[in-house]
Amino acid sequence: MASPKRFIAGAVCPRCAEMDKIMMFTTDDDDQVRECVACGFTDAVSDVEQPASPELETRVNKRRNEDDHTVRQVVFFKAGADD
Ligand SMILES: [Zn+2]
Repeated sequence: MASPKRFIAGAVCPRCAEMDKIMMFTTDDDDQVRECVACGFTDAVSDVEQPASPELETRVNKRRNEDDHTVRQVVFFKAGADD
């Protein structure tokens, strides 16, 4: 089960630079994801360092967004090998 979203006090969005708009939650796969409610920025925060792989996209697809009314736009950092 995904954990409830919670705001991170003092966190600044890397995209829109708004403060206190970042929520953090954990997916079913225990990936931590932060999300900006102001601009819709989404970012996976991995506890475990691992190389970028297509597996990331799978996790995105499996992500639950029942209470997420924002545009489902997820931005992941990829190390090069795209296409
Ligand atoms: Zn933002």
